[in-house]
Amino acid sequence: SPHDVLTDLDRRHLVHPVAHWRGHEACGPSILASGQGVWLQDDQGRELLDGFAGLWCVNVGYGQESVVQAATEQLRRLPYATGYFHFASESAIRLAAKLVDISPASLSRVYLTLGGSEAVDAAVRFITLYWNSVGQPQRKQFIALQRGYHGSSSTGAGLTALPVFHRGFDLPLPNQHHIPSPYPYRHPSGGDDAAVIADSVAQLRAKVAELGPQNVAAFFCEPIQGSGGVIVPPAGWLKAMADTARELGILFVVDEVITGFGRTGPMFACQAEGVEPDLMTVAKGLTSGYVPMGATLMSEAVYAAIADAAPQGMAIGHGATYSAHPVGAAVALEVLRLYEDGGILAHAQAVAPRFAAAMQALTAHPLVGDARQRGLLGALELVADKATRRAFDPALGLGERIFGIALRHGVIFRSFNDHILGFAPALTITEAEIDELFARVRRVLDDVL
Ligand code: PLP
Repeated sequence: SPHDVLTDLDRRHLVHPVAHWRGHEACGPSILASGQGVWLQDDQGRELLDGFAGLWCVNVGYGQESVVQAATEQLRRLPYATGYFHFASESAIRLAAKLVDISPASLSRVYLTLGGSEAVDAAVRFITLYWNSVGQPQRKQFIALQRGYHGSSSTGAGLTALPVFHRGFDLPLPNQHHIPSPYPYRHPSGGDDAAVIADSVAQLRAKVAELGPQNVAAFFCEPIQGSGGVIVPPAGWLKAMADTARELGILFVVDEVITGFGRTGPMFACQAEGVEPDLMTVAKGLTSGYVPMGATLMSEAVYAAIADAAPQGMAIGHGATYSAHPVGAAVALEVLRLYEDGGILAHAQAVAPRFAAAMQALTAHPLVGDARQRGLLGALELVADKATRRAFDPALGLGERIFGIALRHGVIFRSFNDHILGFAPALTITEAEIDELFARVRRVLDDVL
């Protein structure tokens, strides 16, 4: 059958991202064939409710005809335009202006990439260039959070603090440092908001003092840590960290690759607390995954310092063939139109309480120790003992088992560290679909028992 042919070819030739290569060869692929709204069909006709919007990216849902049209029109008119040698495309120019329009007021310059990893990598390069440009070349130390994820480029994977991205890759680099994650459920206070925030602020101060305040370039963080297990910090945490970074004289970079574009309610999560970062990285929801694109946004001060220090006649050597790709930009412009004029952000805000309630209801389940959520981003943390919050033994391989059970129940979500189940459905999900999603999740949990 075609399925067997594809499975055989996959096992022999396709290297899968973030997979156990030998383990994958043994189990073979789940081949996704088509999608509509929050629903996927695999190559054998099985219906799957996608509770994770692909990889928390398909925010507008599958099958948005106007996005397909925007891509098609751009492909037909001009499939490619370089940004080199002063060239540009209309869609790239309009997208840069649109992103500045919807972003925090501090950000005025946009570098368009192919995704989040490249956006983080560009941010690191621009920050290095910035400090060299302003005569502080000794500022080479970067601080991020434990459990953080900032992509898998050579530098981003070191800012990331998840063991699988470090092991065997000689990471983190000597200039990459991590402070504890603001993790209320696992905090010694048991989850006291003020204590979690105070600890993070103190840890950032202590790390900067240890490295020498004059040596630190920047602090990177996600407003809500995604791949680290959907760690939702207390309200006010992001603002406290931004204020502390400013006071310490280091750049503050917010990585909104997951949290951007309405995932947590507002257009960007940092806007909920009036945070004005020096740089911001975005991707995923920017094009809703229809084609690859990300962006690094920076303040006028960062841009101007770099621009003004460049020697006459010498290019700033950062760019790629596909930087500011016109098809990505055309898709992004239409996706952004759907979020705003198409009412998708307003819809996501309207159904978020239903999502939160459905997750909270599952805390009555014997396996669920914690339910946490903001907007349409959430997680259920499974525990072996609710009273002591004892985690499951990783040797049980619970995550892999749950994945298999979930497919049998026709539902897709992510499991982190084997015991945290992450949810990030398309922002177009209806209340009935939210109910159906968590009804299926409940059946999965019952089967795990
Ligand atoms: N930063 C964050 C916060 C992410 O969640 C991701 C991807 O999951 C990235 C960066 C990397 O983005 P990409 O996978 O598009 O390279």
